[in-house]
Amino acid sequence: LPDLLTHFAVVFALTSPFLGIRRGLVAGVVALLPDLDVLFRVHRSATHSVIVLLVFALPAAYLAHRGGVGLRFLAFAVASLLSHPILDVFQGYTPILYPFL
Ligand SMILES: [Zn+2]
Repeated sequence: LPDLLTHFAVVFALTSPFLGIRRGLVAGVVALLPDLDVLFRVHRSATHSVIVLLVFALPAAYLAHRGGVGLRFLAFAVASLLSHPILDVFQGYTPILYPFL
């Protein structure tokens, strides 16, 4: 649980000055998404790969932009998502370049 709080707090602290409180909260929640792999009783799986995250995040961001979401917020959201595996690297093995490494 402190791990989740760290992911949320770091992203919220870094994005809310630029995005405002509400969007900063959303960015903080986005940063937690890679840990949804615990629902499948694994942790630090492919959801912690920058490559896998980009494969899902870029099309999702494209669709969100077509739906009217601003590019600035989407850039912060994608960066928030990618911050998760980058922070996890400092705590232990993280397959950040899966499936290549
Ligand atoms: Zn994680």
